[in-house]
Amino acid sequence: MKVTEYIAKSKGKTLFTFELLPPLKGENINSIYQTIEPLIEFNPSFVDVTYHREEVIFKEREDGLLERRTVRKRPGTVGIAAAIKFKYGIDVVPHLICGGFSQEETENALIDLQFLGIDNILLIRGDNLRGEKQFKPEPDGHRYAIDLVKQVIKLNKGIFLEEDMLNPVPTNFCIGVSGYPEKHIESPNLATDLQYLKAKVDAGADYIVTQMFFDNSKYFDFVKACRETGITIPIIPGLKPISLKSQLSTLPRTFSIDIPDELVKEVEKCTDTQQVRQAGVEWAIQQSRELIEFGVPVLHFYTMGKSDNIRKIAHEIF
Ligand code: FAD
Repeated sequence: MKVTEYIAKSKGKTLFTFELLPPLKGENINSIYQTIEPLIEFNPSFVDVTYHREEVIFKEREDGLLERRTVRKRPGTVGIAAAIKFKYGIDVVPHLICGGFSQEETENALIDLQFLGIDNILLIRGDNLRGEKQFKPEPDGHRYAIDLVKQVIKLNKGIFLEEDMLNPVPTNFCIGVSGYPEKHIESPNLATDLQYLKAKVDAGADYIVTQMFFDNSKYFDFVKACRETGITIPIIPGLKPISLKSQLSTLPRTFSIDIPDELVKEVEKCTDTQQVRQAGVEWAIQQSRELIEFGVPVLHFYTMGKSDNIRKIAHEIF
């Protein structure tokens, strides 16, 4: 079933969903199952699986020179999504990015998903390769997520890249895109970012999932601004419980988000990681309660590969 159908059928009841990331290359699928299983009893409506492009690494050679290598450390998005769908009967939302994909590779990835009966996708641009100042698309790839949305919309109409196909069967993807309550890191301001978000929606996106935020007023203001801009589709809040003290600086640096003073003080008081995880859980529970009160369609949690903290939150909320 499509994400938008889940939301329509829930009749205003907030749904529980979460995001997983593929394990590091070399680990096996059991680590994914170990993350999911503690959360199954809370009836997740769908599970997102992130996509990770190649990374550039430098290996020291015997002669002392550095060799540049490109590796994908977390492959397996489509395989994991399919494994979850068939093992647990839960709908999945694999992520698909612009970075590293030509248009034809994108089309082929979409065909794989179609054959697997996966009809939800989250379309995002992806980040720059490490060491690159700007995002560089493949020569025949997409520069912005909107271009990916347009390609999927065409495919949903049966328009493939190859024009002279006999009886092409349209795909039927429900399309999610990302939104940034505190603006995207590269955007000059929130209003500009919103215009580009609106363009993704006008191109055919069905729903928005937000970047994590720790201050609900940022989400409420974002929803208001989206509605004033004419965006009417569901806006799903993404929540991440703080789990390490170091995240007080890494999360703002990576995602260009603020962490409220009160939460910073709570985390700074903690003397070990267990206490930090608990402080993160308590903050997320408060956020969740207020968001449900506001009437959000879904609470979407970023697991970052660990679910014990998400389980504690879900236990209180769902
Ligand atoms: P876009 O919508 O393309 O926007 C990128 C920037 O360009 C923004 O600043 C926007 O304002 C600007 N812009 C957009 N259109 C134009 C235009 N026409 N002209 C000029 N500027 C424009 N990354 C991964 O690698 N894998 C994942 O699985 C993944 N999942 C994510 C899930 C969610 C819910 C979120 C919020 C992010 C996720 N990301 C993921 C991170 C994402 O790839 C980065 O944030 C990326 O930098 C931007 O992606 P986007 O789709 O928002 O980009």
